[in-house]
Amino acid sequence: MDFADLGLSEPVLKAVADAGYVTPTPIQAQAIPIILMGRDVLGTAQTGTGKTASFTLPLIDILAGGRARARMPRALILEPTRELADQVAQSFDKYGKNSPLSMALLIGGVNYSEQEKLLDRGVDVLIATPGRLIDHFERGKVMLTGVQIFVIDEADRMLDMGFMPDIERIAKMLPPLRQTLFFSATMAPEMRKLADKFLSNPKEVEVARQATTAESITQFQIHVSHRLKREALRTLLRNEDVKNAIIFCNRKRDVDILAKSLARHGFDAAALHGDMDQSARTATLEKFKKGEIGLLVASDVAARGLDVQGLTHVFNFDVPTHPEDYVHRIGRTGRAGMEGRAFTLVSGEDGKYMQAITRLIARDIPVMELQGFTPDESEASDVPPADEKRSRRGRKDRGGRERTPKRADKPADDRLTAPEAKTAAPASKPEPQRNESRRRDRREERREDREPPVRGMGDHVPNFLLRPARRTASS
Ligand code: AMP
Repeated sequence: MDFADLGLSEPVLKAVADAGYVTPTPIQAQAIPIILMGRDVLGTAQTGTGKTASFTLPLIDILAGGRARARMPRALILEPTRELADQVAQSFDKYGKNSPLSMALLIGGVNYSEQEKLLDRGVDVLIATPGRLIDHFERGKVMLTGVQIFVIDEADRMLDMGFMPDIERIAKMLPPLRQTLFFSATMAPEMRKLADKFLSNPKEVEVARQATTAESITQFQIHVSHRLKREALRTLLRNEDVKNAIIFCNRKRDVDILAKSLARHGFDAAALHGDMDQSARTATLEKFKKGEIGLLVASDVAARGLDVQGLTHVFNFDVPTHPEDYVHRIGRTGRAGMEGRAFTLVSGEDGKYMQAITRLIARDIPVMELQGFTPDESEASDVPPADEKRSRRGRKDRGGRERTPKRADKPADDRLTAPEAKTAAPASKPEPQRNESRRRDRREERREDREPPVRGMGDHVPNFLLRPARRTASS
């Protein structure tokens, strides 16, 4: 099949050719004709399958006839994280370069006034994270009654991050007569039930089996005690022919600690996590994508969907506690027919998480002995590993994981690290509304990069679970 067979217009076909695409990917071949027909779509597809183009290309053609009106976008694309939203915006620019459509990116952590200017002028397409969109709506800066096409992307991630109530609220602001495209990497029964709320007689499209890891990725696990992980990682980085890599940690604090530690040892490393202000996040990601930084130490905010050309390696400094995150993390490498290598450092307490991963991906991950690893115990003990530091401060949750202290280390206002966060709201804005905007931005940040939730209870940990067990007569 050829792109020309899908019913797309000449300008879009030209943009596709300029992007260097020759053949549509399976999700594109399936979804594009259906979307062009105006049908709702329930799509099961992971990032890396060409999913973004599968909805962006037809969307550009469907909108081609109309005209933007002030504050009334004609299409709305919701993304769970700022990075994904930004990436979709870049794709929109690439695929829409021959069309006159305008677009605004509404994400948290970025100055409101620029976004408002664009909205006032009128945009055809809004690409947004849910929190910031609701914020603009409540300020009266955007009306959603003109939306003809509504895209909910990465729906399973949205669900994980607790965005579904926001999305339901947004859906109520849209006209009932619209086209809705709902994409999720997985389609468990609960996801399907949720999709029913938004879709009307959808056509289903599906690519790739759920939870598979690409054959192009060579995977290994390395067993090492927790306190020696950093040294093991350095040895591994020296042994491997690493051009560019993402190193994943489970917690934001550890991302910072590890990035600094690597830099101290002469590695070209930078951190990326949700507590950084948006301009720093964007700048770091840009540098990494351009190859100016070789190693990106990241939390899972970077795991989903980030598309970095030719990433040679992924390292899991921590074993992810949700097995699906493993698939998404290592899926950053081995893309577009290239070979990739993925290594996971496994210490004693991680065994059960590794078992869950191998069960999910239905394959063994071979154990590798680390060549040339002669741990220097004295060095390992000079800086206590993050977990050790935490266990002096915090308590453990039911799964043995450290629980985040109730408040973060800094007072609330300090955590609005972005300079623009302090100037974001115009002076005339009433205080309660300004506080609500800040709270929403902070919630968005926390959701983007939170510690593993307690499954089945949302983020709430009932007090009775945190109380120390009652002593028995024998203890
Ligand atoms: P996505 O799943 O949308 O994140 O896309 C993953 C990567 O595939 C991006 O780098 C796209 O530029 C690329 N891509 C999308 N469609 C095609 C295609 N038909 N042929 C080659 N590469 C593509």
